[in-house]
Amino acid sequence: MVFLVSKPSGDVEGARPDFCSQFLGSLPLAMANGEDDDHQFGVLLYYKYAQIPDLDDLVSFYKSNCISLGLVGRVRLASQGVNVTVCGKLCSLKSHIAVMKLNSLFDGTDFKLASCHQPMNDVVARECGFTSLSVRVVQELVTLRSNPVMKLPEITEAGTHLSAAEFHSVLGSAGLLSDEKKRIHSKDVVLLDARNLYETRVGKFKTPNIETLDPEIRQYSDLSCWIDDNSEKLRGKQILMYCTGGIRCEMASAYIKSKGSEFQNVFQLYGGIQRYLEQFPNGGFFSGKNFVFDHRISVGSSTEDIIGTCLNCGDPFDDYSSRCRCKYCRMLVLVCDNCQKKNTLYVCELCRKNGKDGGPISQFQSTKLEVVSQQSDHEIGSQQLPWSNGKVCRSPRKLRVLCLHGFRQNASSFKGRTASLAKKLKTMVEFVYVDAPHELSFIYHPRDRETCVTSSVQPNCPPPVEHCKKKFAWLIAEDITGKGSETKWEVADAVFDPLQYQKQTDGFEESFAYLKTVFSEKGPFDGILGFSQGAAMTAAVCLRKMSVKGAVDVRFAVVCSGFPLQIPELEHGVISCPSLHIFGSDQGNDRQIANKMSRDLASCFDAGCSVIIEHDSGHIIPTRPPYIDEIKAFLQRFL
Ligand SMILES: [Zn+2]
Ligand SMILES: [Zn+2]
Repeated sequence: MVFLVSKPSGDVEGARPDFCSQFLGSLPLAMANGEDDDHQFGVLLYYKYAQIPDLDDLVSFYKSNCISLGLVGRVRLASQGVNVTVCGKLCSLKSHIAVMKLNSLFDGTDFKLASCHQPMNDVVARECGFTSLSVRVVQELVTLRSNPVMKLPEITEAGTHLSAAEFHSVLGSAGLLSDEKKRIHSKDVVLLDARNLYETRVGKFKTPNIETLDPEIRQYSDLSCWIDDNSEKLRGKQILMYCTGGIRCEMASAYIKSKGSEFQNVFQLYGGIQRYLEQFPNGGFFSGKNFVFDHRISVGSSTEDIIGTCLNCGDPFDDYSSRCRCKYCRMLVLVCDNCQKKNTLYVCELCRKNGKDGGPISQFQSTKLEVVSQQSDHEIGSQQLPWSNGKVCRSPRKLRVLCLHGFRQNASSFKGRTASLAKKLKTMVEFVYVDAPHELSFIYHPRDRETCVTSSVQPNCPPPVEHCKKKFAWLIAEDITGKGSETKWEVADAVFDPLQYQKQTDGFEESFAYLKTVFSEKGPFDGILGFSQGAAMTAAVCLRKMSVKGAVDVRFAVVCSGFPLQIPELEHGVISCPSLHIFGSDQGNDRQIANKMSRDLASCFDAGCSVIIEHDSGHIIPTRPPYIDEIKAFLQRFL
């Protein structure tokens, strides 16, 4: 077998100091390009793991270079490298590559350039992030971490790179030989697809005699859990991994190798399926299409075989361009044109496996994955699209606002509590809800109707757990056993303590790290809104955003019924972020958070750009006039 070739190119020397200033804004739009390149469009993908010496410098370089070349798409930068998917005229993309190659930081980078058609519709363009340029600093280039406390593997420990030809030859020699000895040997080889379920459903590697492992995950951050749960399938094996363009295998292969000495034979297809299909235009061992995260949607081999099937009728079908999604988890699903006419609500195979049926969806059922579009049109807004012929086509702008719930709530319950607000702001704002990371035990008060006791329950017994939504917190009291423990019932030990929030001081750093992941996965957000404990957290995010280089960037904060957190940074300096504070007045009947506490928190913000609304409605966010008009007036400034 031909296993072993190029080492992952990890360490390279730093960028030339004059790199950015040399090229800022002064690039010729076309550098020695042919006629065709002036008119053809293309997509460019590349990533590079390397220590970035000056992130800010590189951010401004990308912004100015991409704007001057008219490129749109996503640029993600982290201290350990860059991940880029941009689209524009072929000649401009070639100019971009030429400039990047001058920087030694990008030595050895595999620039994958393909010509392409324009997005087939606005929905596809918007979902794929190709309506604008988004340059952002993130924690991870691709998010492998399933929770904020998970330790990432060292990228230098990534699996051995195999070129497309080498990968092909390994699959061929292990899979096609008929003599008994080699066949036994082939059992020691497993093929691991590192992509999400909806990607593997339209195309995958298939080889006789080699087992292909499909983790059937919704998102990349689920892969580490799958690896943990299925380590027996990988132990002692020669593991061949692949993904779309290669970047996901880098981290995941390092993660597998971090599991110990029996997990060291890990190999990855360098350049991913994309490079493989270029080498083997008839598909080789790959059948179906390569799902891609740009507006091409998928790229097939010359054979154009269809391995996907319609979720509804089972007919061969592999076209995601209508962007049908599961009504529960929002994952992409395959629904053929005929079935789309009959039905508009779908349930994916994973949700079906978990017992979700095809019944109507209620407003509060979908929680964590509230976001339909992965990217919104934001940042650098006035830029023209390369295919718009001078016209800027754009849907009405809405503010995306991340919502942080209060103590012992969850995304779903907070969505319910703010339904009236969301309705009144629906032309201006899209709210995105997430659960806090600290899971709480259920509490019930005997002979009481507290929490989620259902009518069928004996007054002195806890209600069945499956009837209850999990409750979460951003901060917990020191004596709480922490998250991840089994969901169980605890009898409330005393009467409700109105000052309990002052004892909840633990777990802040975990919550903050978790929010960074939320920003990187579900962002960007224009603003952040927090309620009660969520408001305290919101203030902390605004305070910290300067020191984390854009990892949690927002332009404004809406702080409702908040109180100041006991974190050292809050003691000195003001929070310079435009803010709207909504809380109960002196006679405001907020029995949970006193007026003075909310006032104290408001005073931590720069008074020059903060607005205060005091109301008489208790521990809620009021949505009646005149309050709603004041809220609208504040938000209007950011549209
Ligand atoms: Zn169908
Ligand atoms: Zn689903």
